[in-house]
Amino acid sequence: MQRRSFLKKTGMAGLGLTALPHLSFTQEIEYSILELMGKSDLELVGEGINLRPAAHDAFVEMKKAAYGDGIDIKIVSSYRSFARQANIWERKYIRYTDDDNMKPIDAIDKIIEYSTIPGTSRHHWGTDIDIVDGNKKVNGDVLVPEKFGQGGPFEEFKKWMDEHSKKFDFYLVYTDDPKRKGFKYEPWHYSYAPISIPMLTQFRRKNILQLLEKEDFLGSEHFTNGFLTNYIQDNILDINTELL
Ligand SMILES: [Zn+2]
Repeated sequence: MQRRSFLKKTGMAGLGLTALPHLSFTQEIEYSILELMGKSDLELVGEGINLRPAAHDAFVEMKKAAYGDGIDIKIVSSYRSFARQANIWERKYIRYTDDDNMKPIDAIDKIIEYSTIPGTSRHHWGTDIDIVDGNKKVNGDVLVPEKFGQGGPFEEFKKWMDEHSKKFDFYLVYTDDPKRKGFKYEPWHYSYAPISIPMLTQFRRKNILQLLEKEDFLGSEHFTNGFLTNYIQDNILDINTELL
């Protein structure tokens, strides 16, 4: 009995390490359109972490390693549902059109400097995180590019991530490559590649344009075909090429 269970365990371990390369393994999973657009209930884990189990485990390993080097990786934002993203979108839309008197299309252009159209956020996937160094006391907004640059409070944190994050399969999404279009440089936004790569692959196989045309929230009536086509090309697909 004991010997059999021992054989079973070692057999499984051997299989996990050698016979199943994990990328091809995860690629076989089919993600539903509801899941890809933040409209389904996901199994998320970790208190204050809220990621898919594999992404959570990798994050915890990375956090431990960073902690040993004096950096306390703190999640500012992880999973976000469609409803939550629609709320963020509409709040900004009202602020720009009502308070700032901007034209709808100008307001939309302003929103998409940093915020996604609901249904297209990578935060819908349970794989992406916005992170900072919790050891640093910072005044005002933390997700500001300058704070991660030279002389900023998160300079050391960003250097640590540049050096180590890929070992844990976390990749920066919106890089500072000057040729990149779409969302501006976000030194805080990382993605767990083993799941987010196949999710993006499956998302782009769907007719995203048609899906977005069906949505109804403040400002969505101003989306034209041309606008959405550019948005998909620049904001969804013009990212760190390692994540494509
Ligand atoms: Zn983000």
